[in-house]
Amino acid sequence: MDSEFAFELQVCAWAERFWPPEDRDRSVVVARQLGTRLRRWDTLVIECHPDALAERARFGPRRLDSDLLHVVRHAPAEWAWYRDALPDPGYPWRYVREAIHRASDRGIVETRRRGNRIHLRRRWPYPDWVDRVVAIENKPDLDASAARRLAPQLERDVALGLADEVWVATAATGERVEPALLEDMPVEAGILTVERGDRGADAVDVAWRPRQLRVGEPGTRIVDRPDGTGRDASAARFEYADPDWKAAKRREIAERAYERGWRSYADAMRPDCRHFRLEPCEGVARPYCTAKSCHQTAAECAGSCPEFEPEPPAWRQRGWPIEGGPGAAIKRLLAGQRARQRPGLDEQSREG
Ligand code: SF4
Repeated sequence: MDSEFAFELQVCAWAERFWPPEDRDRSVVVARQLGTRLRRWDTLVIECHPDALAERARFGPRRLDSDLLHVVRHAPAEWAWYRDALPDPGYPWRYVREAIHRASDRGIVETRRRGNRIHLRRRWPYPDWVDRVVAIENKPDLDASAARRLAPQLERDVALGLADEVWVATAATGERVEPALLEDMPVEAGILTVERGDRGADAVDVAWRPRQLRVGEPGTRIVDRPDGTGRDASAARFEYADPDWKAAKRREIAERAYERGWRSYADAMRPDCRHFRLEPCEGVARPYCTAKSCHQTAAECAGSCPEFEPEPPAWRQRGWPIEGGPGAAIKRLLAGQRARQRPGLDEQSREG
């Protein structure tokens, strides 16, 4: 288990510094364990133009959910009654009013009352900051059985076309033909082979290029499919995903990626445990547990961990009088690194 989590962090760190594999004038936002209700990807790379990313930063580091996006994307440049300005949302207007109040509280639109009517105007146009969405599955040991489990998921990704590209990242073996190329995977999925150890840009090679998926066209959601055995005679079931739904989902996913980044794993772990350390490993600062003498996973490093011991109170009194102990400092360190990846923001500007 250690290896999958560690591998995932290595891929995220590499993508943040070196994506895309060939040189292009792109900024990226990298996140992990994000997707839709039905599909979560290990690593997500949001490619964007640097100027558009800087414009997005004006809306603050927190994500804009679908209701807030509806408001900020359509808020007018001049004062107008919200029902005149915003398109019919397709759900009750009271939810729109709530979203307008939230947007106003966050300072991303302006509002005023005229009698009983709420008027609004935008502070800035919401930029079209998402250029491409790239999904990466991390499978350090891509043997035949792992490939069999992964292939149907990738086929679903290809059929839906929500991401522009899907990739599998696997550990390089050094063999003449990487074994991953011999596995039965969808040809539309790219393959990255990753050398363990910090080898900078050269740590990752493109073994197979992916096909560009048609994100602007209708997609197919595979809801159910026969399991391929002789006993399963059921028909596959499909749903249609229209381009507007896909575009909205891509924006929402990108917003969540923008908020979370890939270092947010500390939020779900216990840096307040006395055994928690951040130690460099293969070029990435990774959680390390001194009680277990290993790079622990997020699932292991939880409140239920039998080895958990809180930071001794004395740690908080020695040089950590206000900001909390080393655990809080680790969270701040990761938050600072996360903020530096988003132009226009620094750690202090993070909203609570
Ligand atoms: S002892 Fe448990 S809670 Fe503490 S750092 Fe190790 S894994 Fe995390």
